[in-house]
Parts: sequence; structure tokens; C-alpha cells
Amino acid sequence: MKRTHHCNELRPSDAGRTVTLTGWVHSRRDLGGVLFIDLRDREGRTQTVFDPSDLDTAVFEAAAHLHAESVIEVSGVVRVRPDGTRNAKIASGDVEVLAKSLTILNHARILPFQVDDPEVANKVNEELRLQFRYLDLRRPEMMRNLRLRSKVAIATRSYMDEQGFLEVETPTLFKSTPEGAREFLVPNRRDPGTFYALPQSPQQFKQILMVSGVERYFQLARCYRDEDLRADRQPEFTQVDIEMSFIDREDIYALIEGLLKKVWKTALNVDIPTPFKRISFDEALNRWGIDKPDTRFGMELVDFSEEFKGSKFGVFGNAVANGGVVKAINAKGLAGATQGQIETMTDYAKSFGAKGLAFIKVEKNAAGVVEWKSPIVKFFNDAEKAALTAKLGIEEGDLILFAADQWLNACEILGKIRLYCAEVLKGQGKLTIDPTRFDFMWVVEFPLLGFDREMNRWYSSHHPFTAPVAEDIPLLKTDPKKVRGQHYDIVVNGVELGGGSIRIHQPDVQKTIFEELLQIPPDETRSRFGYMLDAFQYGAPPHGGIALGFDRLCAILCGTTSIRDVIAFPKTAKGVCLMTESPSQVTPRQLRDLHIEVKAAVKPPVAPTAS
Ligand code: ASP
Repeated sequence: MKRTHHCNELRPSDAGRTVTLTGWVHSRRDLGGVLFIDLRDREGRTQTVFDPSDLDTAVFEAAAHLHAESVIEVSGVVRVRPDGTRNAKIASGDVEVLAKSLTILNHARILPFQVDDPEVANKVNEELRLQFRYLDLRRPEMMRNLRLRSKVAIATRSYMDEQGFLEVETPTLFKSTPEGAREFLVPNRRDPGTFYALPQSPQQFKQILMVSGVERYFQLARCYRDEDLRADRQPEFTQVDIEMSFIDREDIYALIEGLLKKVWKTALNVDIPTPFKRISFDEALNRWGIDKPDTRFGMELVDFSEEFKGSKFGVFGNAVANGGVVKAINAKGLAGATQGQIETMTDYAKSFGAKGLAFIKVEKNAAGVVEWKSPIVKFFNDAEKAALTAKLGIEEGDLILFAADQWLNACEILGKIRLYCAEVLKGQGKLTIDPTRFDFMWVVEFPLLGFDREMNRWYSSHHPFTAPVAEDIPLLKTDPKKVRGQHYDIVVNGVELGGGSIRIHQPDVQKTIFEELLQIPPDETRSRFGYMLDAFQYGAPPHGGIALGFDRLCAILCGTTSIRDVIAFPKTAKGVCLMTESPSQVTPRQLRDLHIEVKAAVKPPVAPTAS
């Protein structure tokens, strides 16, 4: 018998029908000699009943000995469950199937962890889940994530198709072009000492496709970066990669707003309002201390440089005298911060080169009078105190935190501390963020270049193909730090969803950037980017593009903070796949073929397999 229904399909109107279901033994209960087996397939669950008074003994016995997660086929008759035994939590919870026959398609061994109970499963250590990923993926939450990801991918493809884009696959065996992150290299057997590199992004190919006249390109592209992994990074990840010709920034904004509108509707049935607000890099830093602000809560940075210039408190006065700024935030309700919390925040400040962290706790003293507890307050005059009170709205229970430094540093210190305070306040129930709220924004007008003091040279804030804002081009030669790039980031709830730029399409401007500003020697420019500079001399249209982090996008839609939850087979923070145990050693013969000698001590090679 073939399956007649999925496990979420049967309803009271099916009562009396003979049906066949297939799936996994989700759970089994024995109630007064009658067996209840919840059968689960991809779509849902149905209760089957094995009643010994109504069944062949052998069938009953077989059912009685099934382990959880064995694969079975059950045929039987649908009946409405007696009142009081209905399960409103599942779609077919009003009915059950009275089993007549059972086929065991495969036995399951005792499981390394339970998959039927979300409470239990959520507590299983992640390494075990990753080792037995096939079991982990059976959990309905994980299956939901895979399904949602698939829907979002399909919605993306259909939207891009409607907008006239061609999906073009670009190579994953690419050329090494160190442009930031470390690359994965692939040795070339045919020419010892030469390597392919796995692409960090299809950036160069997509620009070449514009020169080819494709005009509108997209790809759900796999990208590779051999970075030390932070919590939400993977060595390989997926981007929705896009490039368009004959456009300006507005076209990209409109395209992406339309895409996200469609994706949010498809995945969550939520209508997101467009257009998104736009915030300059300067404003984002000034107000939230970060270029990807989470604007779902306040605690904005307030500038006190004017008030504290010439202050008796040397740290503040000197910062302003040296061209820096004094900024503060008010963490409302955090006056009771523990020593440990203050130390964590001080460490953040120190990691940016600050000497310490100035703060004021606004609390009642022993006599019940509200006072500003801080060793620095004695240096403040009345006007300074009045300015703080007025601009920060200071009241009992507040924790005021300061940064006095060069502008960018001061902003970033408080930006980091602001997010930390928000986490602490959330934990204490003093700050709640509506989980259905999505604050989208474009962050624009980034500086084109940053300056690397150690190397004494400029580096591209984004990548070297980003075009300067047209009116700033003359500044490239005179004051590069003032040059704004035509770069944009799309940010939601403090997460950078993606970024891109209008590109340089004039070979001479591109050469100036490479050679004069980034100081890449001409022969190196030639060997790394020669083909691009050449291509640009044969009719390159003005163009621009963007890439969205697809894993992160799916994680946001699934309401999880870990991108591992939306990747079928992710790697650990150490870059290891625990299920397949990769990376792994290879045979001496493979190494010989690749002209590779491993110098470091290695474990004995694996025995060669028959294949
Ligand atoms: N290639 C860029 C990245 O991966 C995105 C872009 O500029 O389109 O970040």
C-alpha cells in the first residue's frame, strides 16, 4: 500500500476511511494495554492506536517493541477521538487511526538524544546536535527553518526574475585576490605551486558580467572566507548577490526594498513599510555609536564637547582640546550595575585604547537623598551638571556613562556599551523589545577610505571597486579622508543584512585608487586586477550592486540568533563539520599528486579506502 495521506491531513470528516500513513515513530505510550504511537512525517503528526483486542498478536508485539524514530507504515481506519482526548496542538489532533496492519520499514537504534520534545531537545549540547545533524533536522523547528529558507530562496528568485535579472553562476574555483579576509586555497595538480582560491564573493565576475552586457545579474552565491569565526560566521555562506548597469543608488534602494517586502510577506505574512529611512554613517555613529544601529530602543549618545571644553576635569577638557569629543549615554534603571558589569564595560572602553570608563550612578545615599555617586563629579561646575541633567534627563536609578576621545573612538566605545546595557536591562526585564518589530534602514555616505596607522596607508572601507561620490573625486588627491563612497548598507534591528556600492567604471580612476591610494605596486595591480582593468577599457557601463547575507536574512526571519540554525550542515566555530569529520587528513599519495609536503607533525594518514 502506498501512503494515502500526510500526517497533518486527516480530519473528522475522514472518519471511517481506510488510510495508510508512513513516517517516524515520534512517541509511544502504553495506556492500559492499548498502544498509542504518534507517527510523524515532514508535514505533521497523527496518533495511531494499536488495540490488542482488535489486532493480530504478532502485529501488536511488533508495535510494542518499536524504538522511537523507527520508520513504519501503518494502515488502519480513521476515527474521531473521544471527547477529552483531542489534541488541539496538532492539525490532525481531532482524529486517530486505529491500526490494522504495520510494516516496519526500518528499525532505529536508541537515539543519542531525544528529538520528540522541544524542551529537551533545546537543551541538548550543540556539538551533539551537529554530530547527529540528520536527527537534529527531524525536529519540527529545524524542519520549519529549512522550509522557510527554501521559500525565501524561491521568492527571491521569482522576484529577481520579475525584475528582469538573469541568474548567472560564477566559478567557485577562482584566483587568489587577497582583498580582506583570508582565502581558502586549492592546489593545482597540473602546475606545482599554483593555486585556485575559493571566492570571497563573486564581486569581480559580476562586474565583468556588466561589461559583457548582462545588465541585470543575480545569484544565490556561495562565498568562502577563512576567518577566525565569530559566533555568527561560517567559513562558507550564501549571499544574494546582485549587480545592475545604468543605475544609481536610488535604483538599488528601490529594488532591495521591493525584494525584502516580498520576502517578509512570503515568510511571515508581514507588510513592511517602504521606503526605508536613510541615515548617514556620521549620524549613525553620532547617535548610536555604530554603523548598524539597533533603533528599537533609545539610550542615544549625547554630545557634551561644547559643555566640557575647558572643563576642570582634565580627561574631558583635554579630549576636546585635542580635537576629540565628550559623549555620554544614560542607561536608565542601571544605577545598580554590579562591579562585574562595570568591569566588562571598562574593558570595552579599554579595547578601544581608552584608559578607563567614567560613569555616574544616580542613587539614594544612606540618608535617603538622591546623589550622583562618582569620583569625577567633584570636578564638575554647576553649568556642567545642569547640562548633563537637562540633556540626559537624569533621575534616580540612572547610570551615566562617558567617553572622551577622538570622535570615532568615543562613538564606538559608547556604541558597544549601549548594546551591552540593553542586554543587561533586557535580562532584568527593564527593557522589552517587540519581537515583531523590524527597523530597517539604509546607512549611507560612508567614508571611502580609512587610514591604517601601522601600515601608514589608506585602505578601502568596503572594497576597492567602490566609486567615490562624484563631487568628492577631486579630494582623492588632496584630502582622501573626506571622500565619501557611494556605498550603502542595509540594516535591520542592529544587524547588517548586506551592503554594496556604485562601482568605479573608469579604468583611470580605478588605477588611481589601486596604485596611489592603496599603494599597490603597478606590477601587483596588473597581476591581480589586470583582466578587470583591461575589461574596463572595452566599454564598461556605469554599474553598481549589492549582496545580502542570505543565512542572516533567514535567521532573522526564523527568529533565531544563530545562522547555524538555518544552515542544513553548518560548521562549528572552529570550522569543523562534526558529522562528516571534515577537515580530515588525506593520503600521502593525494599529497604527492598535489606536490604538497606537510611539514608540521601530523597524525598517521587514514587508511586508503576501496574507492
Ligand atoms: N561583494 C560585496 C560583499 O561581498 C558586496 C557588493 O559590493 O556587492 O560584501
